[in-house]
Amino acid sequence: MTAFTYTLKPTAGQETLLRTAGGAARAAYNTLLALVKTRLAERETNPDVRPPWTKFDLINAVNAWRRDLDAQGAVWHRTIPSIVFEEAAADLAYGLASFVDCRKGRRSGPSVGFPVFKKKSRTPYRFRIRAQKGSVAVGAPGRPRAVRLPRLGVIGVREDTRPLRRLLRPGLDGTPRARITAATVRWRRGRWTVAVSVEAPDLHPSLQCSPPEVEAPGWVGVDRGLVALTVAATDEGVETARIPAERIYRRREEGLALRHRRLARTLPGSRRRVRALRQVREYQARTAAMREHKLHEVANLLVNNHDRLVLEHLHVAGMLTNRRLAKSLSDAAFASLARLVVYKAAWRGVLVVEAERWFASSKTCSGCDHRVSELPLSQREFCCPACGLRIDRDLNAAINLAKQGARLCRLHRFLSCPGGGHHPDSGPASSRPGDQRATRTRRRRPNSGEAAVCGSSTARTSPIALPGA
Ligand SMILES: [Zn+2]
Repeated sequence: MTAFTYTLKPTAGQETLLRTAGGAARAAYNTLLALVKTRLAERETNPDVRPPWTKFDLINAVNAWRRDLDAQGAVWHRTIPSIVFEEAAADLAYGLASFVDCRKGRRSGPSVGFPVFKKKSRTPYRFRIRAQKGSVAVGAPGRPRAVRLPRLGVIGVREDTRPLRRLLRPGLDGTPRARITAATVRWRRGRWTVAVSVEAPDLHPSLQCSPPEVEAPGWVGVDRGLVALTVAATDEGVETARIPAERIYRRREEGLALRHRRLARTLPGSRRRVRALRQVREYQARTAAMREHKLHEVANLLVNNHDRLVLEHLHVAGMLTNRRLAKSLSDAAFASLARLVVYKAAWRGVLVVEAERWFASSKTCSGCDHRVSELPLSQREFCCPACGLRIDRDLNAAINLAKQGARLCRLHRFLSCPGGGHHPDSGPASSRPGDQRATRTRRRRPNSGEAAVCGSSTARTSPIALPGA
């Protein structure tokens, strides 16, 4: 599963329809939630009452609601694909199921509460269309840069759609390599976007690395920090990447303050206020887009040049409670970086493991494993009192992480592993004949000491291999 996101260029009429559809999804969700709550309250007195709970029940309930709307003469919902309502019902069913699973301890991750109403002022427009028999298509006759959605028609997009269209074209055996499963339309950062989800084949083998040899040296540790965003080093002490922190938010903070001051000087309800608010939002959106672009570059660099990575476990939510560092930490977006690395690694057959939460990567000497009790953030160099090693703080941490690789692998601390989530020791990756595949790989040895410079050289790679690439 992967998704291709495009920015939409709707006409004025289409934009109205998109807003109606977004509002309809929200209205359907809220109406169903109100129904569930009413039935739950009724059940207090009458145990025979059964609230709609499953996806099936909720879709039936939403269809009943739409028939009521028809009876009242409200025909607006007929302009919108009915699948939008069904998907809103599916979302609520998922929310209810997650709540129950969480209560019964069947769900990991943060705790999930009972679903809440989607407030109009706080919910951006968003709706999903499940693709049925070609109802969602990319490109239209004479219009390659477009998507076709049921009832909404052909909507132009800004980006080139060729990589996706190639995947959707029938191959030599007559069947396309990918299949569209859904389209999610969102109002995001002042633009309408559509994310087309596709079921796609694996990346072309030439773009994947050969199965990593778990026990061999060559693990690479990745240390994330505020001074250097990322430092990667092998267990043998060779630094393979060092990317300085960009501090994009900090750099643009002044411009943001300026726009906020302008906004504060306008009168509520005035046209100048609307314009000033739009300028604040556009500026924020640009900051976010710049950060996202940088993170993709860094993640690609790490994944395309290494075959086995060790990430530290960062409790980012906890770190953000430090008020002195919160802004810088948010700006560095550690958690987003890890998320990108993990999914890109899965595409490329790169093994990613995670160190334990309390593993002291920074405070341990990479030379003799001596552990110091204190290491303030201001101290950029690690000086070992036991063996006298002097080494850059982040490099030391990265080496320590790299040394844990094989052990973490044995402990099954995988974030991403080749072969679709099979642990390499369940189907022995290390014993697979690497030589047979060597001709098809473009893996560069991580410890070749190659100067990994992040920039335009790390071209954005298509998530899916093109035929014959
Ligand atoms: Zn030492």
